[in-house]
Amino acid sequence: MATPIQPEVQPEKISCSLCRKEVPLSAALTPQGADYVGYFCGIECYDEFSAQKESQAPEKPQK
Ligand SMILES: [Zn+2]
Repeated sequence: MATPIQPEVQPEKISCSLCRKEVPLSAALTPQGADYVGYFCGIECYDEFSAQKESQAPEKPQK
């Protein structure tokens, strides 16, 4: 039996928005509902990025 193979199909890869490591798109974390769209290689990078983003958020009123 011949199995149809598509050798030209390769898993799409993206670079982690934090550590720049390349990971398959299917394995990347994508935050939903955020105004920033990024990809992360794992929950650790996502948490790290979220923490940095929160600390940088201009939520504090400046007087
Ligand atoms: Zn990463």
